Amino acid sequence: MNYISTRGQTSPHTFTQAVEAGLAPDGGLFLPDHLPSIADKLSSWSVLSYPALASEFFQIFAPEISADEWTALTAEAYSRFDSPDVAPLRKLDDKTFVLELWHGPTLAFKDFALQLLGLLYKRQVKQSGKTLAVLGATSGDTGSAAIHGCMGQEGIQIFILYPHGRVAPLQERQMACTGASNVYAIPVPGFFDDAQRVVKECFADSGFVSRHHLSAVNSINIARVLAQCVYYIWAWLRLPESARSKVEFVVPTGNFGNVLAGWLAQQMGLPIDSFRVATNQNDILHRFFSTGEYRQEEVHPSHAPSMDIQAASNFERYLYYMLREQPDRVREVMAQMKSGTPIHLPHVSSSFRSSRMTDAQIERCIAEVWRQHGYVIDPHTACGFTDMRPDATSVVLSTASPAKFPDVVTQATGNEPTHPTLDALKALPLVTHPLEATAAAVKEFIASHS
Ligand SMILES: *Cc1c(COP(=O)(O)O)cnc(C)c1O
Repeated sequence: MNYISTRGQTSPHTFTQAVEAGLAPDGGLFLPDHLPSIADKLSSWSVLSYPALASEFFQIFAPEISADEWTALTAEAYSRFDSPDVAPLRKLDDKTFVLELWHGPTLAFKDFALQLLGLLYKRQVKQSGKTLAVLGATSGDTGSAAIHGCMGQEGIQIFILYPHGRVAPLQERQMACTGASNVYAIPVPGFFDDAQRVVKECFADSGFVSRHHLSAVNSINIARVLAQCVYYIWAWLRLPESARSKVEFVVPTGNFGNVLAGWLAQQMGLPIDSFRVATNQNDILHRFFSTGEYRQEEVHPSHAPSMDIQAASNFERYLYYMLREQPDRVREVMAQMKSGTPIHLPHVSSSFRSSRMTDAQIERCIAEVWRQHGYVIDPHTACGFTDMRPDATSVVLSTASPAKFPDVVTQATGNEPTHPTLDALKALPLVTHPLEATAAAVKEFIASHS
Protein backbone atom coordinates (compact mmCIF):
# COMPACT_ATOMS: atom_id res chain seq x y z
CA MET A 1 0.00 0.00 0.00
CA ASN A 2 1.40 3.38 -1.02
CA TYR A 3 0.15 6.91 -0.46
CA ILE A 4 -0.43 9.40 -3.25
CA SER A 5 -1.20 13.10 -3.23
CA THR A 6 -4.59 14.54 -4.21
CA ARG A 7 -2.63 16.91 -6.47
CA GLY A 8 -0.73 14.16 -8.28
CA GLN A 9 2.75 15.70 -8.22
CA THR A 10 4.30 13.76 -5.35
CA SER A 11 6.04 10.40 -5.70
CA PRO A 12 4.37 7.51 -3.85
CA HIS A 13 5.12 7.48 -0.10
CA THR A 14 4.91 4.62 2.38
CA PHE A 15 2.58 5.07 5.36
CA THR A 16 5.44 6.09 7.67
CA GLN A 17 6.79 8.57 5.11
CA ALA A 18 3.34 10.07 4.60
CA VAL A 19 2.80 10.37 8.36
CA GLU A 20 6.18 12.02 8.77
CA ALA A 21 5.55 14.50 5.94
CA GLY A 22 2.00 15.43 7.03
CA LEU A 23 1.20 17.58 4.00
CA ALA A 24 2.33 16.23 0.59
CA PRO A 25 5.25 18.21 -0.91
CA ASP A 26 3.03 19.37 -3.82
CA GLY A 27 0.65 21.01 -1.35
CA GLY A 28 -1.94 18.23 -1.61
CA LEU A 29 -3.16 15.69 0.93
CA PHE A 30 -2.12 12.05 1.11
CA LEU A 31 -4.55 9.24 0.33
CA PRO A 32 -4.09 5.48 0.02
CA ASP A 33 -3.43 4.57 -3.64
CA HIS A 34 -6.42 2.21 -3.50
CA LEU A 35 -9.18 1.42 -1.03
CA PRO A 36 -9.05 -2.28 -0.14
CA SER A 37 -12.25 -4.18 0.60
CA ILE A 38 -12.88 -5.00 4.25
CA ALA A 39 -16.35 -6.51 3.68
CA ASP A 40 -15.21 -10.13 4.05
CA LYS A 41 -13.32 -9.38 7.26
CA LEU A 42 -16.20 -7.87 9.22
CA SER A 43 -17.53 -11.08 10.75
CA SER A 44 -14.12 -12.15 12.07
CA TRP A 45 -13.47 -8.62 13.32
CA SER A 46 -16.71 -8.58 15.34
CA VAL A 47 -15.11 -10.46 18.26
CA LEU A 48 -12.03 -8.24 18.58
CA SER A 49 -11.35 -5.68 21.30
CA TYR A 50 -11.06 -2.06 20.16
CA PRO A 51 -7.21 -2.02 20.13
CA ALA A 52 -7.10 -5.38 18.36
CA LEU A 53 -9.51 -4.12 15.69
CA ALA A 54 -7.39 -1.01 15.21
CA SER A 55 -4.30 -3.19 14.88
CA GLU A 56 -5.92 -5.40 12.19
CA PHE A 57 -7.07 -2.31 10.28
CA PHE A 58 -3.67 -0.61 10.35
CA GLN A 59 -1.86 -3.76 9.27
CA ILE A 60 -3.69 -3.39 5.94
CA PHE A 61 -2.72 0.25 5.55
CA ALA A 62 0.82 0.14 6.91
CA PRO A 63 2.24 -3.33 6.29
CA GLU A 64 5.79 -2.00 6.76
CA ILE A 65 5.05 -1.89 10.50
CA SER A 66 4.88 -5.47 11.79
CA ALA A 67 1.71 -7.03 13.20
CA ASP A 68 3.36 -7.33 16.62
CA GLU A 69 4.33 -3.70 16.55
CA TRP A 70 0.81 -2.61 15.56
CA THR A 71 -0.61 -4.70 18.38
CA ALA A 72 1.68 -2.95 20.86
CA LEU A 73 1.07 0.53 19.40
CA THR A 74 -2.72 0.29 19.44
CA ALA A 75 -2.78 -1.36 22.89
CA GLU A 76 -0.74 1.53 24.29
CA ALA A 77 -2.65 4.26 22.39
CA TYR A 78 -6.02 3.14 23.76
CA SER A 79 -4.84 2.15 27.25
CA ARG A 80 -5.43 5.65 28.60
CA PHE A 81 -9.14 5.66 27.71
CA ASP A 82 -11.42 5.38 30.74
CA SER A 83 -13.91 2.91 29.23
CA PRO A 84 -13.14 -0.79 28.60
CA ASP A 85 -14.95 -0.42 25.25
CA VAL A 86 -12.78 2.63 24.37
CA ALA A 87 -15.70 3.88 22.20
CA PRO A 88 -18.90 2.75 23.99
CA LEU A 89 -22.10 2.62 21.93
CA ARG A 90 -25.09 3.73 24.03
CA LYS A 91 -28.68 3.00 23.11
CA LEU A 92 -31.09 5.90 23.67
CA ASP A 93 -34.10 4.20 22.07
CA ASP A 94 -34.76 1.49 19.47
CA LYS A 95 -33.69 3.71 16.60
CA THR A 96 -31.13 6.02 18.20
CA PHE A 97 -27.63 5.20 19.38
CA VAL A 98 -24.80 7.45 20.56
CA LEU A 99 -21.16 6.56 19.97
CA GLU A 100 -19.24 8.15 22.85
CA LEU A 101 -15.88 9.26 21.48
CA TRP A 102 -14.75 11.21 24.54
CA HIS A 103 -13.27 8.63 26.88
CA GLY A 104 -9.67 9.57 26.07
CA PRO A 105 -7.38 11.82 28.12
CA THR A 106 -8.67 15.16 26.74
CA LEU A 107 -12.34 14.11 26.57
CA ALA A 108 -12.84 14.74 22.83
CA PHE A 109 -12.66 12.42 19.81
CA LYS A 110 -9.31 13.81 18.64
CA ASP A 111 -7.59 11.56 21.20
CA PHE A 112 -8.36 8.54 18.97
CA ALA A 113 -5.93 9.78 16.36
CA LEU A 114 -3.49 11.82 18.42
CA GLN A 115 -2.72 9.20 21.06
CA LEU A 116 -1.64 6.97 18.18
CA LEU A 117 0.17 9.76 16.30
CA GLY A 118 2.22 10.56 19.43
CA LEU A 119 3.40 6.94 19.51
CA LEU A 120 4.21 6.99 15.79
CA TYR A 121 6.36 10.09 16.41
CA LYS A 122 8.08 8.27 19.27
CA ARG A 123 8.77 5.32 16.97
CA GLN A 124 10.23 7.70 14.38
CA VAL A 125 12.56 9.26 16.99
CA LYS A 126 13.71 5.81 18.07
CA GLN A 127 14.42 4.66 14.52
CA SER A 128 16.14 7.84 13.31
CA GLY A 129 17.92 8.70 16.55
CA LYS A 130 16.94 12.34 15.97
CA THR A 131 14.88 14.42 18.35
CA LEU A 132 11.68 15.95 17.03
CA ALA A 133 10.09 19.37 17.56
CA VAL A 134 6.33 19.13 17.03
CA LEU A 135 4.68 22.46 16.22
CA GLY A 136 1.01 23.32 15.73
CA ALA A 137 -1.66 25.95 16.17
CA THR A 138 -5.00 25.23 17.79
CA SER A 139 -8.36 26.72 18.59
CA GLY A 140 -8.65 24.21 21.44
CA ASP A 141 -9.21 20.47 21.03
CA THR A 142 -6.48 19.50 18.55
CA GLY A 143 -3.74 21.21 20.58
CA SER A 144 -4.70 19.61 23.86
CA ALA A 145 -5.08 16.18 22.25
CA ALA A 146 -1.68 16.55 20.52
CA ILE A 147 -0.04 17.60 23.78
CA HIS A 148 -1.49 14.60 25.58
CA GLY A 149 -0.26 12.34 22.77
CA CYS A 150 3.32 13.67 23.04
CA MET A 151 3.77 14.61 26.69
CA GLY A 152 6.52 12.75 28.47
CA GLN A 153 7.72 11.09 25.22
CA GLU A 154 11.49 10.99 25.11
CA GLY A 155 13.10 12.90 22.23
CA ILE A 156 9.99 14.98 21.48
CA GLN A 157 9.33 18.63 22.36
CA ILE A 158 5.86 19.93 21.56
CA PHE A 159 5.03 23.61 20.94
CA ILE A 160 1.36 24.59 20.59
CA LEU A 161 0.29 28.14 19.72
CA TYR A 162 -3.21 29.36 20.52
CA PRO A 163 -4.97 32.74 20.50
CA HIS A 164 -4.62 34.34 23.91
CA GLY A 165 -7.96 34.50 25.76
CA ARG A 166 -9.83 32.82 22.90
CA VAL A 167 -9.77 29.15 23.85
CA ALA A 168 -12.11 27.78 26.53
CA PRO A 169 -10.55 28.03 30.02
CA LEU A 170 -10.67 24.25 30.49
CA GLN A 171 -9.03 23.69 27.10
CA GLU A 172 -6.22 26.06 28.10
CA ARG A 173 -5.78 24.13 31.34
CA GLN A 174 -5.55 20.86 29.40
CA MET A 175 -2.63 22.34 27.47
CA ALA A 176 -0.91 24.35 30.19
CA CYS A 177 -1.33 22.21 33.32
CA THR A 178 0.30 18.96 32.21
CA GLY A 179 3.38 19.43 34.37
CA ALA A 180 5.38 17.77 31.55
CA SER A 181 8.76 19.35 30.80
CA ASN A 182 8.51 18.71 27.03
CA VAL A 183 5.26 20.67 26.57
CA TYR A 184 5.11 24.37 25.69
CA ALA A 185 1.68 26.03 25.62
CA ILE A 186 2.16 29.34 23.82
CA PRO A 187 -0.56 31.99 23.89
CA VAL A 188 -0.15 34.65 21.17
CA PRO A 189 -2.15 37.86 20.63
CA GLY A 190 -4.94 37.78 18.03
CA PHE A 191 -7.19 35.07 16.63
CA PHE A 192 -6.65 31.43 15.63
CA ASP A 193 -5.75 32.56 12.11
CA ASP A 194 -2.84 34.62 13.52
CA ALA A 195 -1.47 31.59 15.39
CA GLN A 196 -1.93 29.47 12.26
CA ARG A 197 -0.15 32.05 10.10
CA VAL A 198 2.89 32.09 12.42
CA VAL A 199 3.10 28.29 12.32
CA LYS A 200 2.93 28.33 8.51
CA GLU A 201 5.70 30.95 8.39
CA CYS A 202 7.92 28.78 10.60
CA PHE A 203 7.40 25.82 8.25
CA ALA A 204 8.19 28.01 5.23
CA ASP A 205 11.79 28.31 6.55
CA SER A 206 13.11 24.98 5.27
CA GLY A 207 16.54 25.46 6.84
CA PHE A 208 14.93 25.93 10.25
CA VAL A 209 12.62 22.97 9.68
CA SER A 210 15.46 20.58 8.93
CA ARG A 211 17.79 21.92 11.65
CA HIS A 212 15.18 21.32 14.36
CA HIS A 213 13.37 18.34 12.80
CA LEU A 214 10.16 20.29 12.92
CA SER A 215 7.01 18.25 12.43
CA ALA A 216 3.52 19.69 11.88
CA VAL A 217 0.62 18.52 13.96
CA ASN A 218 -2.60 19.53 12.23
CA SER A 219 -5.85 18.07 11.04
CA ILE A 220 -4.68 16.69 7.73
CA ASN A 221 -2.28 13.87 8.67
CA ILE A 222 -3.43 10.65 6.97
CA ALA A 223 -2.83 8.69 10.20
CA ARG A 224 -5.58 10.73 11.82
CA VAL A 225 -8.15 9.93 9.15
CA LEU A 226 -7.33 6.20 9.21
CA ALA A 227 -7.44 6.03 13.02
CA GLN A 228 -10.94 7.50 12.83
CA CYS A 229 -12.16 4.87 10.33
CA VAL A 230 -11.81 2.24 13.06
CA TYR A 231 -14.62 3.45 15.31
CA TYR A 232 -17.15 3.39 12.48
CA ILE A 233 -16.37 -0.29 11.98
CA TRP A 234 -16.43 -0.85 15.73
CA ALA A 235 -19.81 0.88 16.13
CA TRP A 236 -21.41 -0.93 13.20
CA LEU A 237 -20.30 -4.28 14.66
CA ARG A 238 -21.84 -3.39 18.06
CA LEU A 239 -25.29 -2.63 16.56
CA PRO A 240 -28.02 -5.30 16.85
CA GLU A 241 -27.95 -7.35 13.65
CA SER A 242 -31.49 -6.26 12.74
CA ALA A 243 -30.38 -2.60 12.77
CA ARG A 244 -27.24 -3.00 10.67
CA SER A 245 -28.87 -3.06 7.24
CA LYS A 246 -30.01 0.55 7.30
CA VAL A 247 -27.79 2.80 9.39
CA GLU A 248 -27.17 6.52 9.19
CA PHE A 249 -24.10 7.90 10.96
CA VAL A 250 -24.64 11.47 12.14
CA VAL A 251 -21.38 13.41 12.42
CA PRO A 252 -20.89 16.85 14.01
CA THR A 253 -18.56 18.38 11.44
CA GLY A 254 -15.97 21.14 11.14
CA ASN A 255 -12.85 20.26 9.13
CA PHE A 256 -14.59 17.24 7.54
CA GLY A 257 -11.97 14.79 8.88
CA ASN A 258 -14.30 12.73 11.01
CA VAL A 259 -17.10 12.18 8.49
CA LEU A 260 -14.57 11.60 5.70
CA ALA A 261 -13.16 8.69 7.72
CA GLY A 262 -16.64 7.15 7.89
CA TRP A 263 -17.20 7.63 4.19
CA LEU A 264 -13.85 5.96 3.39
CA ALA A 265 -14.87 3.00 5.59
CA GLN A 266 -18.11 2.80 3.58
CA GLN A 267 -16.13 2.88 0.32
CA MET A 268 -14.13 -0.09 1.68
CA GLY A 269 -17.33 -2.06 2.06
CA LEU A 270 -18.66 -1.23 5.53
CA PRO A 271 -22.43 -1.30 4.86
CA ILE A 272 -23.39 2.19 6.04
CA ASP A 273 -26.53 3.49 4.33
CA SER A 274 -25.94 7.22 4.75
CA PHE A 275 -24.15 10.00 6.62
CA ARG A 276 -25.47 13.27 7.91
CA VAL A 277 -23.00 16.14 8.02
CA ALA A 278 -24.22 18.11 11.06
CA THR A 279 -22.99 21.71 11.22
CA ASN A 280 -23.52 24.64 13.54
CA GLN A 281 -24.33 28.12 12.20
CA ASN A 282 -21.03 27.99 10.25
CA ASP A 283 -22.77 25.95 7.62
CA ILE A 284 -20.56 25.93 4.54
CA LEU A 285 -20.80 22.14 4.35
CA HIS A 286 -24.56 22.09 4.90
CA ARG A 287 -24.93 24.58 2.07
CA PHE A 288 -22.62 22.47 -0.06
CA PHE A 289 -24.45 19.20 0.50
CA SER A 290 -27.85 20.78 -0.02
CA THR A 291 -27.02 22.90 -3.09
CA GLY A 292 -23.73 21.61 -4.56
CA GLU A 293 -22.14 25.04 -4.11
CA TYR A 294 -19.04 25.52 -1.92
CA ARG A 295 -18.89 29.19 -0.98
CA GLN A 296 -16.81 30.53 1.92
CA GLU A 297 -18.24 33.10 4.29
CA GLU A 298 -17.11 34.70 7.54
CA VAL A 299 -16.76 32.58 10.68
CA HIS A 300 -19.26 33.36 13.45
CA PRO A 301 -18.21 32.07 16.90
CA SER A 302 -20.72 29.55 18.26
CA HIS A 303 -21.48 27.28 21.23
CA ALA A 304 -19.67 24.51 19.32
CA PRO A 305 -16.27 26.22 18.79
CA SER A 306 -14.45 23.18 17.38
CA MET A 307 -16.82 23.37 14.41
CA ASP A 308 -16.36 27.11 13.79
CA ILE A 309 -14.79 26.61 10.38
CA GLN A 310 -15.39 27.95 6.89
CA ALA A 311 -12.55 26.19 5.07
CA ALA A 312 -12.79 22.47 5.77
CA SER A 313 -9.22 21.27 5.36
CA ASN A 314 -10.06 17.62 4.69
CA PHE A 315 -12.58 18.50 2.00
CA GLU A 316 -9.84 18.23 -0.65
CA ARG A 317 -9.70 14.47 -0.03
CA TYR A 318 -13.41 14.12 -0.80
CA LEU A 319 -13.01 16.42 -3.79
CA TYR A 320 -10.41 14.03 -5.18
CA TYR A 321 -12.96 11.21 -5.31
CA MET A 322 -15.78 13.46 -6.53
CA LEU A 323 -13.55 14.58 -9.40
CA ARG A 324 -13.07 10.90 -10.31
CA GLU A 325 -9.51 10.73 -8.98
CA GLN A 326 -8.14 13.26 -11.48
CA PRO A 327 -5.41 15.30 -9.73
CA ASP A 328 -5.35 17.91 -12.54
CA ARG A 329 -8.97 18.70 -11.81
CA VAL A 330 -8.23 18.86 -8.06
CA ARG A 331 -5.46 21.40 -8.69
CA GLU A 332 -7.80 23.48 -10.83
CA VAL A 333 -10.63 23.46 -8.32
CA MET A 334 -8.32 24.15 -5.36
CA ALA A 335 -6.86 27.16 -7.18
CA GLN A 336 -10.38 28.38 -7.85
CA MET A 337 -11.28 27.98 -4.18
CA LYS A 338 -8.15 29.81 -3.08
CA SER A 339 -9.08 32.77 -5.24
CA GLY A 340 -12.41 32.93 -3.39
CA THR A 341 -14.54 31.84 -6.35
CA PRO A 342 -17.45 29.66 -5.22
CA ILE A 343 -17.32 26.20 -6.79
CA HIS A 344 -20.07 23.89 -8.03
CA LEU A 345 -19.66 20.15 -7.97
CA PRO A 346 -21.95 17.94 -10.00
CA HIS A 347 -21.12 14.53 -8.51
CA VAL A 348 -21.97 14.73 -4.83
CA SER A 349 -22.28 11.25 -3.34
CA SER A 350 -25.88 10.37 -2.58
CA SER A 351 -24.69 8.93 0.74
CA PHE A 352 -24.55 12.39 2.29
CA ARG A 353 -27.29 14.43 3.89
CA SER A 354 -26.69 17.53 6.00
CA SER A 355 -28.18 19.73 8.70
CA ARG A 356 -27.41 22.96 10.58
CA MET A 357 -28.15 24.28 14.08
CA THR A 358 -28.06 27.77 15.55
CA ASP A 359 -26.86 28.42 19.11
CA ALA A 360 -30.46 28.81 20.31
CA GLN A 361 -31.34 25.44 18.78
CA ILE A 362 -28.26 23.85 20.39
CA GLU A 363 -29.42 25.02 23.83
CA ARG A 364 -32.96 23.75 23.26
CA CYS A 365 -31.64 20.46 21.92
CA ILE A 366 -29.42 19.75 24.96
CA ALA A 367 -32.43 20.42 27.22
CA GLU A 368 -34.71 18.23 25.09
CA VAL A 369 -32.35 15.22 24.93
CA TRP A 370 -31.87 15.50 28.72
CA ARG A 371 -35.63 15.62 29.32
CA GLN A 372 -36.45 12.82 26.89
CA HIS A 373 -33.58 10.39 27.54
CA GLY A 374 -31.97 11.52 30.80
CA TYR A 375 -28.76 11.79 28.81
CA VAL A 376 -26.44 14.81 28.74
CA ILE A 377 -24.77 15.87 25.49
CA ASP A 378 -22.25 18.60 24.69
CA PRO A 379 -22.97 21.46 22.22
CA HIS A 380 -21.08 19.76 19.33
CA THR A 381 -22.97 16.49 19.72
CA ALA A 382 -26.22 18.46 20.02
CA CYS A 383 -25.84 19.61 16.40
CA GLY A 384 -26.52 16.01 15.38
CA PHE A 385 -29.85 15.69 17.21
CA THR A 386 -32.19 16.93 14.51
CA ASP A 387 -33.81 15.62 11.34
CA MET A 388 -33.31 11.90 12.13
CA ARG A 389 -34.16 9.55 9.28
CA PRO A 390 -37.50 7.92 10.15
CA ASP A 391 -36.64 4.80 8.14
CA ALA A 392 -33.15 4.11 9.50
CA THR A 393 -31.21 3.51 12.71
CA SER A 394 -29.22 6.60 13.67
CA VAL A 395 -25.80 6.50 15.27
CA VAL A 396 -24.88 9.98 16.50
CA LEU A 397 -21.16 10.49 17.03
CA SER A 398 -20.64 12.22 20.36
CA THR A 399 -17.45 14.17 19.82
CA ALA A 400 -16.84 15.74 23.25
CA SER A 401 -17.77 15.22 26.88
CA PRO A 402 -20.43 17.66 28.14
CA ALA A 403 -18.08 18.44 31.06
CA LYS A 404 -15.83 20.34 28.64
CA PHE A 405 -18.58 22.91 28.05
CA PRO A 406 -20.09 23.47 31.51
CA ASP A 407 -21.66 26.89 30.84
CA VAL A 408 -23.98 25.97 27.97
CA VAL A 409 -24.80 22.56 29.40
CA THR A 410 -25.61 23.89 32.87
CA GLN A 411 -27.88 26.50 31.38
CA ALA A 412 -29.74 23.91 29.33
CA THR A 413 -30.12 21.13 31.93
CA GLY A 414 -29.91 22.93 35.26
CA ASN A 415 -27.08 20.62 36.35
CA GLU A 416 -23.37 21.34 36.11
CA PRO A 417 -21.61 18.50 34.28
CA THR A 418 -18.36 17.44 35.93
CA HIS A 419 -15.52 15.08 35.18
CA PRO A 420 -12.75 14.03 37.60
CA THR A 421 -10.03 14.76 35.01
CA LEU A 422 -11.22 18.34 34.62
CA ASP A 423 -11.79 18.86 38.34
CA ALA A 424 -8.20 17.83 39.00
CA LEU A 425 -6.98 20.35 36.38
CA LYS A 426 -8.59 23.26 38.20
CA ALA A 427 -6.16 22.86 41.10
CA LEU A 428 -2.97 22.69 39.02
CA PRO A 429 -0.71 25.65 38.20
CA LEU A 430 -1.03 27.10 34.70
CA VAL A 431 2.34 27.19 32.89
CA THR A 432 2.27 29.20 29.66
CA HIS A 433 4.96 30.77 27.48
CA PRO A 434 3.39 33.91 25.95
CA LEU A 435 5.08 35.12 22.77
CA GLU A 436 4.52 37.80 20.14
CA ALA A 437 2.63 36.54 17.07
CA THR A 438 5.71 36.52 14.84
CA ALA A 439 7.67 33.68 13.29
CA ALA A 440 10.92 35.27 14.54
CA ALA A 441 9.80 35.09 18.18
CA VAL A 442 8.53 31.51 17.85
CA LYS A 443 11.64 30.27 16.00
CA GLU A 444 13.89 31.80 18.63
CA PHE A 445 11.86 30.12 21.37
CA ILE A 446 11.99 26.73 19.65
CA ALA A 447 15.74 27.07 19.03
CA SER A 448 16.40 27.69 22.70
CA HIS A 449 14.08 24.88 23.92
CA SER A 450 14.78 21.96 21.59
C1 LIG B 1 -12.67 18.75 15.97
C2 LIG B 1 -14.04 18.60 16.52
C3 LIG B 1 -15.17 18.49 15.68
C4 LIG B 1 -15.08 18.59 14.17
O1 LIG B 1 -14.47 17.45 13.59
P1 LIG B 1 -13.88 17.52 12.11
O2 LIG B 1 -13.12 16.27 11.92
O3 LIG B 1 -13.01 18.76 12.08
O4 LIG B 1 -15.04 17.64 11.18
C5 LIG B 1 -16.42 18.28 16.27
N1 LIG B 1 -16.56 18.23 17.61
C6 LIG B 1 -15.50 18.34 18.45
C7 LIG B 1 -15.74 18.29 19.91
C8 LIG B 1 -14.21 18.52 17.94
O5 LIG B 1 -13.17 18.63 18.78
